[in-house]
Amino acid sequence: MQTYQIDAEEVLKALDASPQGLTPEEAERRLSLYGANELAEKKKRSLFMMFLDQFKDFMIIVLIAAAVISGIIGEPADTIAIIVIVVLNAVIGFVQEYRAEKAMAMLKKMAAQTASVLRNGEIVHIPSAHIVPGDIVLLEAGNIVPADMRLLETARLMIEEAALTGESMPVEKHTMPLHEEHLPLGDRKNMAYKGTIVTYGRGKGVVTAIGMKTELGKIASLLQEGEEVKTPLQKRLAVFGKKLALAVLVICTVVFVAGLLRGEDRLLMLLTAISLAVAAIPEALPAVVTISLALGAKKMVKQNALIRKLPAVETLGSVTYICSDKTGTLTMNKMAVEEIWVDGAVIKTAGEEGLKQGTETSSRSMLLTALALSNDAGEDAAGRHIGDPTEVALYLVARKAGFDKKMLEKDFPRVAEIPFDSDRKCMTTFHRTPEGGVISFTKGAIDVLIETSSDILHPDGPRWLDPEEVQRVNEKMSADGLRVLGIGMKKWDRLPDDMSPGHVERGLTMLGLAGMMDPPREEAREAVGLCKTAGIKPVMITGDHPLTATTIAQRLGIIDNDSKEVITGRELDRLSLEEFEERVNDIRVYARVAPEQKLKIVKALQDKGQFVAMTGDGVNDAPALKRADIGIAMGITGTDVSKEASHMILLDDNFATIVKAVKEGRRIFENIRKFIKYTMTSNSGEIWTLFLAPFFGLPIPLLPIHILWINLVTDGLPGLALAAEPAEKGVMQRPPRDPKESIFAHGLGTHIIWVGLLMGGVSLFTQAWAIKTEHSHWQTMVFTVLCLSQMGHVLAIRSETESLFAQGLFSNKPLLAAFLLTFILQMATIYVSALNPIFKTEPLTLDELAIALLLSTVVFIAVEIEKAVKRRLGKRRMDSAQRGSRP
Ligand code: ATP
Repeated sequence: MQTYQIDAEEVLKALDASPQGLTPEEAERRLSLYGANELAEKKKRSLFMMFLDQFKDFMIIVLIAAAVISGIIGEPADTIAIIVIVVLNAVIGFVQEYRAEKAMAMLKKMAAQTASVLRNGEIVHIPSAHIVPGDIVLLEAGNIVPADMRLLETARLMIEEAALTGESMPVEKHTMPLHEEHLPLGDRKNMAYKGTIVTYGRGKGVVTAIGMKTELGKIASLLQEGEEVKTPLQKRLAVFGKKLALAVLVICTVVFVAGLLRGEDRLLMLLTAISLAVAAIPEALPAVVTISLALGAKKMVKQNALIRKLPAVETLGSVTYICSDKTGTLTMNKMAVEEIWVDGAVIKTAGEEGLKQGTETSSRSMLLTALALSNDAGEDAAGRHIGDPTEVALYLVARKAGFDKKMLEKDFPRVAEIPFDSDRKCMTTFHRTPEGGVISFTKGAIDVLIETSSDILHPDGPRWLDPEEVQRVNEKMSADGLRVLGIGMKKWDRLPDDMSPGHVERGLTMLGLAGMMDPPREEAREAVGLCKTAGIKPVMITGDHPLTATTIAQRLGIIDNDSKEVITGRELDRLSLEEFEERVNDIRVYARVAPEQKLKIVKALQDKGQFVAMTGDGVNDAPALKRADIGIAMGITGTDVSKEASHMILLDDNFATIVKAVKEGRRIFENIRKFIKYTMTSNSGEIWTLFLAPFFGLPIPLLPIHILWINLVTDGLPGLALAAEPAEKGVMQRPPRDPKESIFAHGLGTHIIWVGLLMGGVSLFTQAWAIKTEHSHWQTMVFTVLCLSQMGHVLAIRSETESLFAQGLFSNKPLLAAFLLTFILQMATIYVSALNPIFKTEPLTLDELAIALLLSTVVFIAVEIEKAVKRRLGKRRMDSAQRGSRP
């Protein structure tokens, strides 16, 4: 017999489970017995393989081979030194990659799915991986079913099982046993399967299979870990790197041939050319991008932005529109009923007086009864309020007036319900009455209630409903920023057979209105201001009334007083995509929209060339989140489905966090750019030095060991420390970066060439001067000047425009430490006599050292001047822009 063929009680018995759930001890025991509820993943790369991977670069292999050959023929000391440097470099790479992988694993763990299960009768939230057979799992709309289960309870539970059956229409589930044999999965309506999506309603089931034993596990017998997606920058760098590698190889060949023509030692020239190639080909750039992004993402978690897809870190800085839900993201989601409208009058709920009045008439007490009963709010054992804040507000106001839900439920037990959904914007509960009949309460958006109500209750009985009067009251309340819900009722002899909303939510008697306030978040106001200086347009999306939305948007600073900026879902529906695109750039508030319409908004903005971040929390938000450039799910109120579709999760559901993440994204991107600027300029300096020397009739300036040392060690540490550079002051005063723009834009390409040339020039000048003045240590001098010039360069490029002195030497301590360490190491190669034979150096005299140090500052000074010019030009541009904008 299959599980779906037998009674739920028997299933429970067979699993040794109870409707109250397992005890924590039993769950623990089963977890160690059956293992985690996870699908098998591809085996991870071992640490050793990760280390070996550091050597897989072709040029490194060539270098090692050449070093070994030259060691056999010539000097073995050289070979050892080169191999030590290559290994050192691999260790640095390995440590970085390991840290990045750790960071990614942590992010993944944080983003893992959780589930609500019953343990000992209490609802607890646990990682889905800890679910065991026999657990009782609660399901609600938006959940991804965490394991295979036999359903025990369903309230209009609908599940979309496309992942298993290919059928995209949701299936309505029930709990009755199905006696047929060999039912296909799609027809087993009393079962819910891992990986399928709850689109509507609620339910409860007992877990029958976990992990690889589930139906999903059977088809995905080996789930390959998701292919790593390359970020746009990585893709571009990879293409660029290939072209550059070719160019470098050509240059190296020239250096090699020129050396031979001058009669240099063949083997030495070969090793020099190969070392130069290793040094100058930026093969590690794409990897460095990943590492910076991963470590950046780890930092962002501390600010409550959890990155699910790594490329998002890079693209965050390009966002031009942030479309955000209102409730809970821009506002606090702490609703409190401020006004009630009943018997044709508004009652303020502040203070006891108002509410006492509320119970005087039968119509008033009916309204409060409805408010108390028609919600899923309540309190947990510790007295905390649970449920949707809108409902909690209604529950609390009723209780304050003496209408306690628990007490009332004894007389009016709930017998059925049609759950709330954002499209219908209302919900209905059915209660048995003491007289034996049934009463239904419907509450929801006021426009819906006006349409579905035919009369309105007064103390003397129902009267004809004047829609205009209700609309007037609604508009008055909405203009004060209140969310207004209407409440209606209907009496039935018995539970209707046809429970469809279209049939049940009709011909209602309206009871009254409740207006509740959800105060804007203070930090959201500031964040909106910040968006504006950063060239980002904040947009509010809400299911609320346009007037409520407008008032709140004004308080937040999203709109001024221009009503053109507000549109309703209905108008939006009427506009074709083209018509809408005409206006989309100016709209700041979308009111009364259904989640599905978010997709239209994203599409229109993207068609207009905008880069869109979109928030969402429900099942129906998923398509828009997927489509957006940055899809953002809510960490607290978000459904599994929305999280699964998102690029980033807000752990605190707060709009301000999005803006912080954008700022962080901009910082990380700028630091990657600085890293590229630093290493590529260094490489360019090394190439120019070796390439140009023969043209000036100079002997080969550096030995292979010098080139490798400069590139792999002195380049490495300060370069990495650039990642710790704090955000520049103006980072949120600049317009967003065009995502299509080249990384070498804004003068980066020219900088790499001219500063590289300068570095080469200074090095060759040192060489020429020292040879001319018969300083026998000229090579050590060139080695030192080139190395220290790069150190000066790294200090100068910490900011794009600001001078190092304004920035402060101590504002990036890791970089300062890397700078000092590199300096000490460089001095060690010169002055520690044991190192002299390895590095082919000689101790410099004090004069020589002084001259080398002096020459090393040239690059620093030149780049500082470049920045000063940029500042000047920038200021002049701003001044003339201001003059231009004056009337
Ligand atoms: P956001 O601003 O984030 O879009 P929202 O709360 O405005 O969220 P929905 O939750 O879709 O959007 O609500 C839409 C409308 O449905 C609300 O304006 C309100 O009138 C009504 N509504 C909200 N919650 C309930 C509820 N629990 N019961 C009945 N009606 C509700």
